[in-house]
Amino acid sequence: MSRPVPKPGILDIAPYTPGKSPVVEPGRKTYKLSANETPFGPSSRAKDAFATTVAHLEDYPEGTSKVLREALGHRFGLDPAQIICGAGSDEILNLIAHVYLGPGDEAISTAHGFLVYPIATQANGATNVVAPETNFTCNVDAILNCVTPRTKLVWLANPNNPTGTYLPSSEIKRLRAGLPEHVLLVLDAAYWDYVTKGDYDNGLELAKTTENTVATYTFSKVHGLAALRIGWMFGPAHIVDAMNRIRGPFNVSAPAMMAAVGAIEDTGHVEMSRTYTAKWIGILTEEITKLGIEVTPSVANFLLMHFPATGKTAADADAFLTRRGLVLRAVTNYGLPNSLRMTIGTEEANRLVIETLREFMASNSGQ
Ligand SMILES: *Cc1c(COP(=O)(O)O)cnc(C)c1O
Repeated sequence: MSRPVPKPGILDIAPYTPGKSPVVEPGRKTYKLSANETPFGPSSRAKDAFATTVAHLEDYPEGTSKVLREALGHRFGLDPAQIICGAGSDEILNLIAHVYLGPGDEAISTAHGFLVYPIATQANGATNVVAPETNFTCNVDAILNCVTPRTKLVWLANPNNPTGTYLPSSEIKRLRAGLPEHVLLVLDAAYWDYVTKGDYDNGLELAKTTENTVATYTFSKVHGLAALRIGWMFGPAHIVDAMNRIRGPFNVSAPAMMAAVGAIEDTGHVEMSRTYTAKWIGILTEEITKLGIEVTPSVANFLLMHFPATGKTAADADAFLTRRGLVLRAVTNYGLPNSLRMTIGTEEANRLVIETLREFMASNSGQ
């Protein structure tokens, strides 16, 4: 008997594994620190704007997310015509791949890059080429070394997930200058609001001044709207035009659009979250390092910890933490079997992680 067969390459793709749903001891409070969600939730302005849309759920949304593109344009000094919105930046990333990649093409991502990139690449029949990193940080020369006549696109999260590291503005410019002009550089700045470093930029400048660079953003992280699925991209008009030709006509829901408009108006909410997060990144990095667990310096709202090579493994730590209700993210599928990623949570959750890791390192577990 014959049956429908997926296109070549589809079944070679390993499905994306989201942050796991907690399995904890009965009676324990659970703290989900596995998906880089904000402990603060969205701004009340976002919630209020969302609520107003309940009265007209029977109506299709305006198809181009005009109200949100205009709000973003106003907030960041951008031409709304060069913005495209999507159901999460995931949709945007897939639209980009759909427009620019096909069989025979190569797209470069980095060793511990976001796993959505290889999936989007392979889903379009193209080949994912992996550039090595240095100290869990993207390496511009390594990326440039991967360029071949088949290279069409480079995926780069800045800061990167799950490593939490970033490249300074000068390195991103050096990357752009070193890539052939026909190669599209995709700068995914999902975590840019958290970065407090002076030598960082969020990609808008290159996206404004070149014909071959786009920058993507999300409302899922600092804005706390992950459930609504809303993200956006700024880029050259010719790229936005091509993407709009295949975008679903009503790809962004009205509640998501309106909540996002409310969210960007509340700069105070973002600032509060950014200050809190930077403070806790500092505290957690210091305290966890003291326990003998190596922590990669992070500029985002999560951090990557590496367990000792022998004895106490990440898997043991994960089980130990999970039993106490602390759900972190295993990153084995990112090629990091002995590391765990932790999202910055509430003060209570953060302190509990430190205490529990101290207990774990002092225990006989895993030895
Ligand atoms: C969370 C995240 C996104 C955002 O995804 P959405 O689809 O907008 O929720 C994009 N890129 C990276 C690297 C991320 O970690």
